[in-house]
Amino acid sequence: MDLFEYQGKQYFARFGIAVSPGGVADTVDQAVTVAEQAGYPVVVKAQVQVGGRGKAGGIKLANNADEVRLHAGNILGMDIKGHLVKRIWVEHASDIVEEYYASFTLDRAAKKHLLMLSAQGGVEIEVTAEKDPDAIIMLHIDPVVGLSAAEAHKACVDAKINPKAVDGAAEILVKLYECFTKGDCDLAEINPLIFRPDGGVHALDAKVSLDNNAAFRHPEWDEYRATEELDEREQLARTHDLQYIGLEGNVGIIANGAGLAMSTLDVVNQVGGKAANFLDIGGGANADVMTAALEVINFDKDVKSIFINIFGGITRGEEVAKGIVQALGRVELRAPIVIRLDGTNAEEGREILKSAGIPESKLISKPTMLEAARAAVALAKGN
Ligand code: GDP
Ligand code: MN
Repeated sequence: MDLFEYQGKQYFARFGIAVSPGGVADTVDQAVTVAEQAGYPVVVKAQVQVGGRGKAGGIKLANNADEVRLHAGNILGMDIKGHLVKRIWVEHASDIVEEYYASFTLDRAAKKHLLMLSAQGGVEIEVTAEKDPDAIIMLHIDPVVGLSAAEAHKACVDAKINPKAVDGAAEILVKLYECFTKGDCDLAEINPLIFRPDGGVHALDAKVSLDNNAAFRHPEWDEYRATEELDEREQLARTHDLQYIGLEGNVGIIANGAGLAMSTLDVVNQVGGKAANFLDIGGGANADVMTAALEVINFDKDVKSIFINIFGGITRGEEVAKGIVQALGRVELRAPIVIRLDGTNAEEGREILKSAGIPESKLISKPTMLEAARAAVALAKGN
């Protein structure tokens, strides 16, 4: 679950990471109240989960209440790259000497945590990675051992952070690592981490993504859930407890198991198509789950074909087939289905589909994943 900047900053503050004094507002009047508390000059910042807000006009400096009114009025309700601004964060403006980048993520392949640190912050890290990859240092951290103050210090020196800022930056790195691990984050990023003329270092922006698998440990995350912005497809999927992620393509995907679902996306991509979603119906999925999955896929107007890829283990072929027949009876699917059904009781499943008398224009069965992917992509392209 991705947090907004203001939530990320509140999360940081719990771990002692310094941020600018400020507050959140969803009206112009409230913005002025917050600005008075934070102290002028202030920065008025659009709260949307997309980068490059500044360039889009979503970050403005205000020297007095009138300017806060002007900018808050303009920014609230603004559309930034398809994201509607419902809230703003107003904080005391900072003087900046230098801007750095720092983040912690999990490197699954290495089975370690990864620190990325750069003395060139303020710009998107992808841009730095492309233009000047040597300007980013990467440090793997053994999760059992953790990150020591000495290692954090060395990382800052290696990243060529201003010697005067090293102590402050290293201290924040240790706290950010605490936030990342104890706070159960998938990502904890500060960009920019600023070095001020008075010698201090603090976080000017916050990008935090929480690990949903740890939600059971964090009842306090409910407040983030309340403001979470899912697209309509994802909301519908959530009501059915489905593991669904909306994507941009036109081939709807249903698979059992996250690994198979991901491979299915890869194969669709490999044969020249684009997936409309990731959807894992899990092991042991029954007819009801399949019906729900098809309803969610059918809701997506971009979907031109539906690729159902099932390798039955715990999931049984005849249950999958029953679900498809049931779904076809309940909803008028806008796109044809291509199915690859293999594994436990696949034979029975295919038999059920055959005897249901579903026309070829609505459902095609293919024996392998690759053939099914080709057929689904061809249908999506209108061939
Ligand atoms: P993003 O572009 O959406 O990631 O928004 P950021 O919060 O990272 O802000 C973008 C840029 O605006 C920063 O890199 C700074 O250069 C500038 N900025 C933001 N807040 C302040 C501030 O308080 N003082 C100054 N001088 N610049 C700021
Ligand atoms: Mn930023």
